Amino acid sequence: MATYIFGHTTPDSDSIVGAISLSYLKNKLGEDTVPTRQGEVNPETKWILEKFGYEAPVLKTEYAGENVYLIDFMESSQSPKDISEATILGIVDHHKLGDLKTNAPLEMWVRPVGCSNTIVKEMFDHYSIEIPKDLAGMMMCAILSDTVIFKSPTCTKEDTKACKELAEIAGVEDYKALGMEMFIVKSDVLSATPRELVLRDFKDFNMGGNTIGVGQLEVVDLNVFDNMKEDLFAAMKELKAEGDRHSVLLLLTDIMQEGSQLLVISDTTDKIENAFDISLENDQTWLKGVMSRKKQIIPFLEKQF
Ligand code: MG
Ligand code: MG
Ligand code: MG
Repeated sequence: MATYIFGHTTPDSDSIVGAISLSYLKNKLGEDTVPTRQGEVNPETKWILEKFGYEAPVLKTEYAGENVYLIDFMESSQSPKDISEATILGIVDHHKLGDLKTNAPLEMWVRPVGCSNTIVKEMFDHYSIEIPKDLAGMMMCAILSDTVIFKSPTCTKEDTKACKELAEIAGVEDYKALGMEMFIVKSDVLSATPRELVLRDFKDFNMGGNTIGVGQLEVVDLNVFDNMKEDLFAAMKELKAEGDRHSVLLLLTDIMQEGSQLLVISDTTDKIENAFDISLENDQTWLKGVMSRKKQIIPFLEKQF
C-alpha cells in the first residue's frame, strides 16, 4: 500500500514541490510513496513545474485508512477533512506546532526555517542521496518563493545555503534573477477573478474558537490592485459569510517596497487594530516591513483572540 505525501489545502509551491521532493527521497530510501495535492496548482507553481519538466501531483482529498506524510503544514484547518482516520507516519514542516493528533509515534522534521524544501534538502544531505538536476531547480524555486527571494523575515542562513547549493546542482547561475522572473509571473493578477485571488494563497486559522481566514498576494508592484480593491472586499465578504468566519484578512504584499497593504473584513475590527497597533481607514492600512503572514501576522492575531 503506497503512502501519500501532500502539503496544505490551497497548495503553494512549497507544498507541491515538497510533496514531489520528499516522495523522491522516501522512494530512494526504499519506501513506496506517491506525491499528491489537496487543491488546484497556482500559476507560480505551474510555471515552476513547466520550467523543470515535472507533472503536478495527483489531486486527492480523501485519506481515510491511508498512511500519509504531511509537508508544509500541521494544522487540522489546513488538512483533509478525514485526516483523523489516516495514519500520519511523519511531518516535515516549518510552521508553528499545530493541533493534529496521532495514534502512533511519528517521524518529525520540524525547524524554524523559511521553507519546507530547505528541510528536505537537509534530509537528502543527511541520507547522502543525490538530488536530480531538475528536482533541485524546483526546490530552489520553492525556497525563493517562500522566502520572497530572501527578503522575508522568515529567511534563515540555512535557507540561503540550501538555495545556493540547489542552484549549483540545477546549473542556475543567477538564481535571484530567476526568482524575480517567478515573482513577475506571480504578479499577473489580471487573469483571475477577485475570488480566485483572495483564495490563491489562503489559510484558515482557529483562534479561540473563531475561524480567521488570511490570504496573501505577493506582487512586484501594488498598483496592479488599484482598480480592484472593491471587488476584493466583496469576495472577502462572501468568504466570511460562507465559511462562518469571524474575519477575513488579505495581505497585498509589495516585494519591492517591502510592506503589505492589509485589507480587513471582520466582526470586531478593533481586535485587528489592537493586534497591530493600527487604525484602519476604509477597512485597510499599510503595514511597513510586513511580508510574512506566519511571523508578522498570525502570532499577533492569536494574542488578541
Ligand atoms: Mg506553504
Ligand atoms: Mg512553506
Ligand atoms: Mg508563502
